[in-house]
Amino acid sequence: MNSTKCRKCGLTNFATDLECARCGTSFVQITVKSGPRPKFSIAALIIFLSVAAVFYYIFIGVQGSVDKVNSTEANRVGAQPLPPDAGRSRAEYDRYRSQTVANAVGAAPGLAEHTNRTQQTDKAIDQMTNSQPQ
Ligand SMILES: [Zn+2]
Repeated sequence: MNSTKCRKCGLTNFATDLECARCGTSFVQITVKSGPRPKFSIAALIIFLSVAAVFYYIFIGVQGSVDKVNSTEANRVGAQPLPPDAGRSRAEYDRYRSQTVANAVGAAPGLAEHTNRTQQTDKAIDQMTNSQPQ
């Protein structure tokens, strides 16, 4: 379309003309959008930035707390002496644990006494059984 026909007088004008050469009618059409236009307000921008800042602040705070807890935990674990079972295989660890339990049980005075009495009783029963005529 390289020409514009005037709506008022019917003269054919150049397409580049902004108004009719004869009657002066404007060819520039002002289109008005219907419906609510999206409004840009500085208040909305400020509110959005504030909310974003709050979320960013919370995120940074939580991240800092997590990092602090992690580093504290790493320091705490690193400061502890190695447990006696460090570097042992599973079988060695089980043997170590069972030996520890056996030592603890053996060191219990009540249990040692009980074991002694049980052995004496067994011995006495054996003697009685062996001495009886078959
Ligand atoms: Zn015209």
